[in-house]
Amino acid sequence: MSSLNDMALRKLAELEAGSLRRRLKETDRKAGAYVERGGRTLISFCCNDYLNLAHDPRVIAAAKSALDEWGASAGASRLVTGNHSIFAELERRLAQLKQTDDCLVFGSGYLANLGIIPTLMKPGDLILADELSHSCLLSGTQLSGATAFRFRHNDMAHLRELLKTHRAGANNCLIVTDGVFSMDGDLAPVPEMADIAKTHDAWLMTDDAHGIGVIAEGRGSSFAAGAKADVPLQMGTLSKAIGSYGGYICASQPVIDLLRTRARTLIYSTGLPPASAAAAIAALDIIETEPGYAALPVEKAQRFTRALNLPEAQSPIVPLVLSDPETTLNASAFLEEQGFLVTAIRPPTVPDGTARLRFTFTALHKDADIDRLAELVRTRVLDKRAAE
Ligand SMILES: *Cc1c(COP(=O)(O)O)cnc(C)c1O
Repeated sequence: MSSLNDMALRKLAELEAGSLRRRLKETDRKAGAYVERGGRTLISFCCNDYLNLAHDPRVIAAAKSALDEWGASAGASRLVTGNHSIFAELERRLAQLKQTDDCLVFGSGYLANLGIIPTLMKPGDLILADELSHSCLLSGTQLSGATAFRFRHNDMAHLRELLKTHRAGANNCLIVTDGVFSMDGDLAPVPEMADIAKTHDAWLMTDDAHGIGVIAEGRGSSFAAGAKADVPLQMGTLSKAIGSYGGYICASQPVIDLLRTRARTLIYSTGLPPASAAAAIAALDIIETEPGYAALPVEKAQRFTRALNLPEAQSPIVPLVLSDPETTLNASAFLEEQGFLVTAIRPPTVPDGTARLRFTFTALHKDADIDRLAELVRTRVLDKRAAE
């Protein structure tokens, strides 16, 4: 056993030396944008609950009622006895929002991508992924055994070049991208990608974990240009702006039927707790009836980028790249002392040399708090760096 511990200790020491060790810190989330950590109340600028719906009384009431009716767990895989009636309603609602035939809900967004991609793709097929795609898209790609290449971030010329070189030698081809990039906050050029995919007989899959609920009246990045872009595979999560938990894919009837039958992370994993599904439905009700509320996180992010002369925010996510992990950790610790929680994001979550503060904005952030944070960042993080 000691060789096992030795290995773990050696790896931890290496990570520590590079300021790359991670630790879990107990942080209790409260209503609004507040969290409690170490006995202090902080204003969080790093939650993905963009609409603060996790604490919305209507969402909580829906979850409680489902909890009372169906209990705390689904009890089995959905294909055995875990398919509570509420899942059908949730899937109908998501398909409606995304304008597709049908939808399939998974235990989480990560599980969805691990199930979807290997069901659709196999050795002999080709997958082209934006280099900044979320980890679970890349893991799903690896699991599928298809030949895979990454194209430079949002670089459509590079995507076209890879298709020219590799498409003809492959059977089927899938193009995958985040709709809203999780660590950068920019959007993929979805309509252009849809055109490129069509030209090369490729299938486009967008991961809209950070788009649903907050972009284009809550419909997500496929609708950012107005009309729905032709995206046959719209995947996302219920764990961010929807304020609950779970993953989904919206697609055509045959695709969803195939995934229901074959996706391993659906078949061999327990269904979502019914209360999570009920919470998600209540959240969708709010998003669909209050588009002005759904627009707030992006507006708040834009207030921040304007104050700092940063490129205008396209989503609720604003990165501030400080490059090295130690500087970023120090900046994060400084902001925490000042009452703001802004987590340092380090490799391998982001590429080497691009450690950053990642600010996320939520509907209930107060303008005065955003202004105070911007002022602190300008005077104590950016000016300090410029002086060095
Ligand atoms: C968070 C995230 C996921 C994972 O979703 P979970 O429901 O949290 O497992 C997938 N893709 C992207 C782009 C994400 O940001």
